[in-house]
Amino acid sequence: QRLSRRRGGEEAPGPAESPGRDLTTLPGLRDIEMVREAGEALGLESPFFRPHEGVAGARTVIGGRPYVNFASYNYLGLNGDPRIAAAAKAAIDRHGVSASASRLASGERPVHGELEAALAANYEAEACLAFVSGHATNVTVIGQLLGPRDLVLHDQLIHNSVAEGARLSGARRIAFPHNDWRAAERELAAHRRRHGRALLVLEGHYSMDGDAPELAPFAELARRHDALLMVDEAHALGVLGATGRGSFEQSGVAPAAVDIWMGTLSKTLSACGGYIAGRRPLVDLLRHSAPGFVYSVGLAPPLAAAALESLAVMQAEPWRVERLQANAALFLALAREAGFDTGGSVGLGIVPVILGSSVAAARMAAALFEAGVNVQPILFPVVPERAARLRFFLSAEHDAAEIRATVAAMAAARDGRRRRGWPE
Ligand code: PMP
Repeated sequence: QRLSRRRGGEEAPGPAESPGRDLTTLPGLRDIEMVREAGEALGLESPFFRPHEGVAGARTVIGGRPYVNFASYNYLGLNGDPRIAAAAKAAIDRHGVSASASRLASGERPVHGELEAALAANYEAEACLAFVSGHATNVTVIGQLLGPRDLVLHDQLIHNSVAEGARLSGARRIAFPHNDWRAAERELAAHRRRHGRALLVLEGHYSMDGDAPELAPFAELARRHDALLMVDEAHALGVLGATGRGSFEQSGVAPAAVDIWMGTLSKTLSACGGYIAGRRPLVDLLRHSAPGFVYSVGLAPPLAAAALESLAVMQAEPWRVERLQANAALFLALAREAGFDTGGSVGLGIVPVILGSSVAAARMAAALFEAGVNVQPILFPVVPERAARLRFFLSAEHDAAEIRATVAAMAAARDGRRRRGWPE
């Protein structure tokens, strides 16, 4: 410890080594450099931040070359759909690009209310509120609803935005083992009574694993223990249920059993933003007090219009949901048949291929890229090292030939390394 001079003339302990304005010691920077150096040592080009040169649909163009694309959230193939682009352009012509103010203070446009009514109807909910970002929705909503006397209980694999919101709230935070409602019940039984409010948070369809919780027992235990139930439907809307309405349609649970439906506009709805649907007092409170809503600009009108049009297309063209689910089921079946570990994927929209190490996942992604397939490797620390994977987002736009060719290319890359006796 450094000593600094006190006014009285004697030496006193000062702050430990202060990095001052030295930005090279920022926490985490060294880790990023290490990953870069490891990639270079293996001769692998970075798979991150590659610009796509057109619409990133089931096919895309990177560096002037065409790829089959499994790395975009474009579940129903609506990004780039001319109807959605036209809706966004019409909103720009009418309102300009920006809402130009917080909605509370002159940023409200008719399309906000229209989008919220359509989303509320999807969940048979009384009300809905749209935010500028899905991530910010979870942070600000959980941060606003709970305080230090409260309890947040969430799945171990919950999205970062939920964990950040819980941290912001100051509530006690407990993670339970993935999809294990019995463990969640034990935690509630042990801790519920020491807290004011309890919030149980799940995802309707997990983004890294493509699996889904059993919603009915979770809803039942939330009811029994007087906990609010929140379900993040980011990867469930347009993906789960016969017509894409989400996890309640898939599971047959009444939508009213969930107190807080959360979702994003950035995936099936091919826009950007987040939303909360539920009972009126919840939505009223958030509309007047959630910092990420009140102190942030209103959702951009073209994005609200694009999301509204996407929802209308999803409802009018249920064949898209059917095709997405059939594509995911085909991918899952072929990947399993080829001997790949697909974890707990239910094969509705997301299929992970777990390769057991970050190096193996990065190598496989590079081999597929070489073969004309763009898929994102998910490496440590985003997932545990032994669970490093490629994550395939299926789309209604993929065709069976592309799916077959992709699994075949993956198997060929693996078998080629095995034949040469190289590590996978
Ligand atoms: N929740 C989940 C489960 C997500 O996967 C994501 C983003 N991938 C978000 C929230 C944040 O949504 P957005 O990207 O629209 O900000």
